[in-house]
Amino acid sequence: MTQLHYDVVIIGAGAAGMVCAIQAGYRGLNVLLLDHAPKPGAKIRISGGGKCNFTNRRVEPKHFICANPHFVKSALARYQPEAFIEWVERHNIAYEERDNGQLFTLEGAGQIVAMLRTELDWAGVELQLNCDVVAVIKQHETWSISTSQGQLTSAKLVVATGGLSYPKLRASDFGMKLAKQYGLEVIPSRPGLVPLQMPARQRAWWSDLSGLSLEVAVTAQRGPRFEGAMLITHQGLSGPCILQVSNYWQPGEPISLNLLPDVKNVAEWLLDLKQNAQSLSGALKQHWPKRLVQAWQTKFEFDDHLANYTQLRLDQLGTSLTAWSIYPDDTAGYAKAEVSLGGVSTDEVSSKTFETHKVSGLYFIGEVLDVTGHLGGFNFQWAWASAHACAQDL
Ligand SMILES: Cc1cc2nc3c(=O)[nH]c(=O)nc-3n(C[C@H](O)[C@H](O)[C@H](O)COP(=O)(O)OP(=O)(O)OC[C@H]3O[C@@H](n4cnc5c(N)ncnc54)[C@H](O)[C@@H]3O)c2cc1C
Repeated sequence: MTQLHYDVVIIGAGAAGMVCAIQAGYRGLNVLLLDHAPKPGAKIRISGGGKCNFTNRRVEPKHFICANPHFVKSALARYQPEAFIEWVERHNIAYEERDNGQLFTLEGAGQIVAMLRTELDWAGVELQLNCDVVAVIKQHETWSISTSQGQLTSAKLVVATGGLSYPKLRASDFGMKLAKQYGLEVIPSRPGLVPLQMPARQRAWWSDLSGLSLEVAVTAQRGPRFEGAMLITHQGLSGPCILQVSNYWQPGEPISLNLLPDVKNVAEWLLDLKQNAQSLSGALKQHWPKRLVQAWQTKFEFDDHLANYTQLRLDQLGTSLTAWSIYPDDTAGYAKAEVSLGGVSTDEVSSKTFETHKVSGLYFIGEVLDVTGHLGGFNFQWAWASAHACAQDL
């Protein structure tokens, strides 16, 4: 550290911390951005399968989970995807649009980190890596921060330490602990955007099918319906559609799988097959991988000869195909989760400035808050938008 006192200290050089530091730096503030990891933006580097799904063209509050669904509106409205896209374009980073408005870099997530590092330099932000925060105390109107690299003070403190997923990338509960230290409510965390595991007694069946992927629609007991690819793994289920529904799944509850999302009216479709004396397996093979057709028919004991089916049996078949209740027994945990749900309660912070109501000069931004986006670039958009709103107030 080059100084003993800063206008702002930001803890956490991830997505939110970097953007907040850049914008505060451009506003002329003397900013220190510190992180205990050896490099900034570790999650950005591995995000989006290495291509970083850095935002989404269709961001709406309904894409976020938060105890107060209105909380996200102000920050999202004030920093729209176009603002980040403009940045990406100014740095000549090539990108592509995939399904549902998702934007990915073409040449790798490292370009987004490089862009943010360049902007940090231009904004005159001091970056201190490999820096552990030992203690944080507010004395009078000044923050006193003890770190492994020395003692410093600041007028304002921004906590951008992220969520608990991917502990191997140095995720920590620092932000939640600091919030508790100041008497702020913290909503318990759980893994989100995470594969689901099947009970041990059923694993052999799923394991035999591991590697298969198919288009499904899936719903949890509450929350929206998601359509997309599901991947069968040795432990259970994964793929974009399952990651999406994992945010809404609660232990002990089922998820409902529709294995024929493209067939508009399955009852009519089955009746048609029966009347035309078509075999069930032949029809299913047009929608599913062959291996699944066999295994599924054996499991549910639906034979090929629909002509022999009573109406009741046909209805049972329709339900098994479109509303198959599956009971996962766990998630794959923080090690495999893209995000964590829960965090510092949004009741504790202003939705305009991100300053806490109880402690002036203390701010929380990004994933450390109880805000979690759907899959599709929404989590980064939240990091950028909350950072932007906070930086205007510092
Ligand atoms: C595998 C994976 C893929 C993902 N892909 C996408 C994607 O494509 N699109 C998308 O929108 N989202 C994606 N996400 C989610 C996204 O990465 C996060 O939501 C986002 O990074 C959160 O930003 P943040 O700044 O709040 O936290 P982070 O980016 O996690 O940054 C937190 C920073 O705080 C530091 N820190 C933590 N504790 C301390 C401490 N005690 N002292 C000092 N520093 C500390 C960490 O080292 C880290 O640098 C992905 C996540 C994962 C794990």
